Amino acid sequence: MQGISIFCTLSRVYHRRKRSRKRNGRRPKAPLQDDEARAVAHRQFIPVLMKDTDGLLIERAPAASAQRGRLAFAPRYSSTPRSPEGDARPVVEQRRMLSSDEVYRKFVDASALLEGHFLLSSGRHSPTYLEKFLVLQYPRTVEAFCAEIARRFAGDNIEVVLGPTTGGVLLAYEVAKNLGTRGIFAEAENGKRVLRRGFALKPGERVLLVDDILTTGGSVRDTIAVIDEAGATLAGIAVLADRSGGKVDFGVRLEALLTLDVEQYEAADCPQCKAGIPLTKRGTTAAPKMR
Ligand SMILES: [Zn+2]
Repeated sequence: MQGISIFCTLSRVYHRRKRSRKRNGRRPKAPLQDDEARAVAHRQFIPVLMKDTDGLLIERAPAASAQRGRLAFAPRYSSTPRSPEGDARPVVEQRRMLSSDEVYRKFVDASALLEGHFLLSSGRHSPTYLEKFLVLQYPRTVEAFCAEIARRFAGDNIEVVLGPTTGGVLLAYEVAKNLGTRGIFAEAENGKRVLRRGFALKPGERVLLVDDILTTGGSVRDTIAVIDEAGATLAGIAVLADRSGGKVDFGVRLEALLTLDVEQYEAADCPQCKAGIPLTKRGTTAAPKMR
């Protein structure tokens, strides 16, 4: 009997709301502007619903609905930060490997390999230059590069991916997305790298360091210092292109999607200088010739 009564009430309320919706062409005009108004509307709705039913239910229902209202609309804060992604699993499946030929091709297609006469940050001259952001401007390409990096480190229990600004911001984000971890970046400040914006590394946390182009290893070393300072563990390094020709050693596993041998000269020996080609200075990166 009680069940039928509840059903009839629910049905009545449902049809009343439906008719009202039809009339107004939208939801009945409950004050839905803000969370508090919604909470109040919610609390009022339940007592109306229960008016015809058993006394016990009338007693319980408003209390329960009020409780639900609070839970639904009151902001909740946690003292211990937890990942908002819950138990998100890594999305890396064992995909097809991206070959260094394909990576090279993508740099060429993006016109990121420039030819001319360039002054490198080391002071040396080179006939070729790598404008990495010409390739990083293509999200699908960045996606493919980062999926490959993630694939190579999928079995290394990486807990956080860290990159130095600026290219490292994109790469850390995308590699982390693939590995199901956090992705953070270290910024330059007073000649060193620091974590800002609330980013932190826990002692012992396994970090994958990612960067775009490895030249002399300066920005990678500065970023390793950040990891060491936090007492975290450097689990590996990944770069899109190693243009040191594999000469830089960090004492940990280094994965480069592309290894380049840079043609470069001291100014005195530079063929372009001798040919009278004007010298250009672009960014801080230079010169590829595929090995
Ligand atoms: Zn020169």
